[in-house]
Amino acid sequence: MSHYVIRLDDACPTMNHANWNRMECLLDKYSIRPIVGVIPENQDPDFAWKNDKSFWERVHFWQEKGWSIAVHGLHHRMHEHEPGKGYYQKSHGKHTEFAGVPYEEQLAMLKEGTQILKAHGITPESFFAPAHTYDANTIKALKLISDIKYVSDGYALQAYRKDGMIFIPSICDGPFVMPFGLYTYVFHPSVMTEAAFVRLEKFLQANSFKVTDVDRAMERIRRNQGISGHLIENSIYAARGFRLMRKTRRKKK
Ligand SMILES: [Zn+2]
Repeated sequence: MSHYVIRLDDACPTMNHANWNRMECLLDKYSIRPIVGVIPENQDPDFAWKNDKSFWERVHFWQEKGWSIAVHGLHHRMHEHEPGKGYYQKSHGKHTEFAGVPYEEQLAMLKEGTQILKAHGITPESFFAPAHTYDANTIKALKLISDIKYVSDGYALQAYRKDGMIFIPSICDGPFVMPFGLYTYVFHPSVMTEAAFVRLEKFLQANSFKVTDVDRAMERIRRNQGISGHLIENSIYAARGFRLMRKTRRKKK
């Protein structure tokens, strides 16, 4: 049987509050406890809705409800990075906040991000990087941040341990109905369309009994990514590369 974890990205004081309210109501209706990625100190101009002064109280409330709070980067401000070079998970992405940044600097960024949340009374228990891009130094640094129990990322059909860190895999955005395995379906509430909300509600109507939380997702942890994980990582990387190539060719025509 398959299980699904819901993840919400890019929570910050200037997120799209109407959409986030809608998402929260929807998840409450089905008693779902998602992972929510909070940007400690947002500097991304894409999130420029009204500033909510009570934002941190809201995050506190989420934590009380059992939502799993993740440190989502530090500023969500990206620099360019050569795709395919040194990423921890294979990616064609050109933008990153962490990859390529020296280890000491990454450690300082992660400490700062965690501290900002803690200063607001929040205890984050996981991390995931903006744009899914980070490197081995990110994992090395994360292991020194005592509250961080897992990373929401990676390719596999079950939670796994790699380099001393637990990964709850996030293969695709979804939501899709799958025959078996564990899937994290990622949503960006601030920019979700009406159609995306309707699709999610329909999915939950039929499948909410298969939606789990991170504690249950971590009950069974593989010792490593496994052959299936490597296969999925390479297949998705190849498929995305092929799609990118076709897109670039079409642009040139
Ligand atoms: Zn993000």
